[in-house]
Amino acid sequence: MKSEVLYKTPKTLLNKGTGFLNGYSHTLNPYTGCTFACSYCYVRQMPVSIFRNGEWGSWVDVKLESAAILRKELKRAKTKGPVTIFMSSSTDPYQPVEAKEQVTRALLEVMVGEPPDFLFVQTRSPLVRRDIDLLQQLGDRVRVSMTVETDREDIRKHFTPSAPPVQARLKTLELLRDAGIPTQAAIAPVLPSTAAFPEILRPLVNRVCIDDYFMGDGSGGKRTKRLPVQVLYEELGLEEWYDPAAYQIVYDRFSQAFPKEQLFVSQQGFEP
Ligand code: SF4
Repeated sequence: MKSEVLYKTPKTLLNKGTGFLNGYSHTLNPYTGCTFACSYCYVRQMPVSIFRNGEWGSWVDVKLESAAILRKELKRAKTKGPVTIFMSSSTDPYQPVEAKEQVTRALLEVMVGEPPDFLFVQTRSPLVRRDIDLLQQLGDRVRVSMTVETDREDIRKHFTPSAPPVQARLKTLELLRDAGIPTQAAIAPVLPSTAAFPEILRPLVNRVCIDDYFMGDGSGGKRTKRLPVQVLYEELGLEEWYDPAAYQIVYDRFSQAFPKEQLFVSQQGFEP
């Protein structure tokens, strides 16, 4: 899909962590919009998408002057108490436009100079490997959470055709691990996967978060129900996976390969 790229200077960058992310003092979105355009993206149902011309995934706003704005806000926030940042709650900080615009990289540079108490980086993009040098400088103040909803590439293509391949995400987890960066795999939302999935992740991460639409979309699954997601399961004859009990299948499989203390469910896995 061709996407429209617009450039805007925001008034603020740091927002208060609320709801699902109330364990954080702040959330940080380098972009508005996300061209990964996942079918199930809960942001499709939020005002930022609803009140916008153009379908979610077909546009992205690049936030100009981000580094200068963040530097100022971060300094101020740190005088008021611990600063814990979730990046990002309604976009992917390493979506394709980041390769050229480097807003996320500029924000990381600011955070290396003015470190927050904790930074959680949520992405599904192999581009995060470009910033290993900066992430290393944040030491144990950072965790990179890589979304890997399934080990099945055919399933990934069916639900998120514009997102990066599973194999590239696994390779990125390996590189992050080798670089000593704290990581986790986020099976979020749970999509149909195979029994071999835990053994694929076992050598790569020592922390796995499992989440689904019913726990993790911020509305008990209601936002997801308003999207044409169910039909995607029906097309594959896999309706049993569109069910609040489906995450348990995955959790049980992972319990065979990971100790319980390395497995997190829903919000727990995204906390600082
Ligand atoms: S990567 Fe995240 S923010 Fe982007 S479309 Fe997919 S779910 Fe939404």
